[in-house]
Amino acid sequence: MNEKKLPVVGVVGAGTMGAGIAQIAAAAGHEVWLLDARDGAAGAAIAKTADALGSLVTRGKLDAAARDATCARLRAASTVQDLAGCGVVVEAIVEDLDAKRALFARLESVVGEDAILATNTSSISVTAIANGLRRPQRLAGMHFFNPVPLMKLVEIVSGLATDRAVADTLFALAQAWGKVAVHARSTPGFIVNRIARPLYAETLALLHEQRATPAVIDACMRAAGFRMGPCELMDLIGHDVNFAVTQSVFAANFNDRRFVPSAVQQELVDGGLLGRKSGRGFYAYQDGKAVVDPLPAAPGETPVGSAVVHGQNRIADRLAESLKRVGMHVTRAHDEARTGVRLGALSLWLTDGDCAGHIAAHERHAAVGVFDLPLDPGGTGALAVAFAHTCPDEARQLGLSALAACGWQPLEISDTPGLVVARTIAMLVNEAADAVQQGVCSPEAADLAMKLGTNYPAGPFEWLQALGVPRVLRLLGTLARDVSPERYRASPWLRERGWAAGCDD
Ligand code: NAD
Repeated sequence: MNEKKLPVVGVVGAGTMGAGIAQIAAAAGHEVWLLDARDGAAGAAIAKTADALGSLVTRGKLDAAARDATCARLRAASTVQDLAGCGVVVEAIVEDLDAKRALFARLESVVGEDAILATNTSSISVTAIANGLRRPQRLAGMHFFNPVPLMKLVEIVSGLATDRAVADTLFALAQAWGKVAVHARSTPGFIVNRIARPLYAETLALLHEQRATPAVIDACMRAAGFRMGPCELMDLIGHDVNFAVTQSVFAANFNDRRFVPSAVQQELVDGGLLGRKSGRGFYAYQDGKAVVDPLPAAPGETPVGSAVVHGQNRIADRLAESLKRVGMHVTRAHDEARTGVRLGALSLWLTDGDCAGHIAAHERHAAVGVFDLPLDPGGTGALAVAFAHTCPDEARQLGLSALAACGWQPLEISDTPGLVVARTIAMLVNEAADAVQQGVCSPEAADLAMKLGTNYPAGPFEWLQALGVPRVLRLLGTLARDVSPERYRASPWLRERGWAAGCDD
């Protein structure tokens, strides 16, 4: 690549994000001017970047020539005027609409006619930031994730006035800087911060209803492939930060109950229990490590007797094979209606949303349990299970030991629609479907964004593909019926595909 042809890049705001953006632009070969309102901040950020790159050289992860070339391209600006020759300016200053508008108005008076302006805002409307500019079509969002040098994703956010060619140029630029770019329409939370809300919201709702402890929820979500459980993740992000994002998305959606903040988190914030940084959140931290009560051990007894396995899928196959292996007499019932197993008097079903107590009352059968969705049917680890109040203890123990015999660690929680994983995944899929319905992004962009921006084990549309629209609609329908019709309403995008798949309302 011919270095001389690359546009000069300006970065305004030399804090956490700006310093990282300047670093990756310089590493990709651009001359970079870094500007900050605080005296000496830009120079200090460049010195810090040089140190960080120096330690990469020491550890053999970067060669010295690359470090020297990157550092030589980074320059501290002292005034906006120094950015006059920039072809692209990325703003990463304080998250304040007036401050951003004032900065862009000033920049517009300095840079050339063809220069592109980008904002790294995480929550302010790009349309609003562009309002008042002489040429609002040249401004778009370029939303990086923290830490910038490591996180692959960049959301390229178009406001109402943004020229598509400007968004495309920034998209290509992000790729040239080693990132994966996705297009997004400027709507509250853009892609990642919007679609991720249910991960926190459903956890907080389960805690609010006292259905399970943070340690149990975290164990179940980790077993489903999430790198961190939602409680440890909120503790890491900081409850003040997480609560503020939730509040801003809620307000920006005109108090849509789907985004309602939680009293559980409000209380943590009020009490100064902000998470890891304050030494206590859901967990207490000692020497930087969470103190977590041990989870109940899996039952040691082997289930005995006979089992009738229902369903024609990998989960049913696993139940049948595992129970046979421990010596049970297993037969298969070829009905498609439910997946699960009848063990003596106990009916133990894969959750489709219905509470065990609801099924027990409906079928006039006392011994009913439901188990959570094993997102990876071949996986091991924690799996939530709940029993009807009417379920006798002996049947309950049999259910727990049967799940343990299949290689899961059954964790009993109180009976609630969709348990932990199924409920959360259904809502993540629903939010993603709504984002697509509203033209925020494509399904492919949603999948990429959630895997790269939040490290989810799969994208929401990949989960939808695996589960099928009818199953997700069934889970949402039960949650809407039993918990809140407004909060759990299915996206029109899913409903239309449900009709096509033969679901009726
Ligand atoms: P930060 O506080 O670390 O840095 C902001 C810097 O901007 C400070 O050095 C400050 O002196 C400077 N500044 C403030 N007003 C200025 C002005 N008018 N002109 C020039 N410099 C000014 O903040 P940050 O975490 O780097 O966030 C910056 C932006 O990036 C915000 O819009 C934020 O919402 C967004 N963002 C942050 C994250 C994150 O995880 N921190 C992630 C994505 C996006």
